[in-house]
Amino acid sequence: MPKIIKCSVCNEDIAASAKICPKCGAKNKKPFYKKWWVWAIVVVIVAIVASSSGNEGTTTTGENGNGTTTVESVKKEKYEIIGDVTSEKDAFGVYIKGTLKNNSGRDCSYLQITFNLYDGEGNQIGTAFDNINNLEKDGTWKFKAMGIDADGEVASFKLAEVTGF
Ligand SMILES: [Zn+2]
Repeated sequence: MPKIIKCSVCNEDIAASAKICPKCGAKNKKPFYKKWWVWAIVVVIVAIVASSSGNEGTTTTGENGNGTTTVESVKKEKYEIIGDVTSEKDAFGVYIKGTLKNNSGRDCSYLQITFNLYDGEGNQIGTAFDNINNLEKDGTWKFKAMGIDADGEVASFKLAEVTGF
């Protein structure tokens, strides 16, 4: 049995597959919205729009994030020490350990961190430093700056500088 539909012009029962209505000659066109592929395309378009608007949302967030980062990088130091800086001593020296983040917005081919070392009276008695190559943008570096402290005089330290290029 062929599927029977009503002619959209004269309301006669006609075969769904008929190209024209046998009674009135009107073209038997399925209404646009009854074609399955119309809905398939609509679904695909909606999915694309939804996902691209999702991406746009993410991109927008990212741009906002970048904007914030730009603002922050003005406020934030190019090279930021994250968390605590600790020190250890052995018979040869003092080791100052911590984590430095590269906020400069680019890869650093070379980075050096330097600490001033002081004795108990506040006299500077040396420096401790560490360096690294190829610290990536936003990368973090666990540094271990070593200073000579053969006499065991180092009582305190202070970050002197971070240089990089
Ligand atoms: Zn008809």
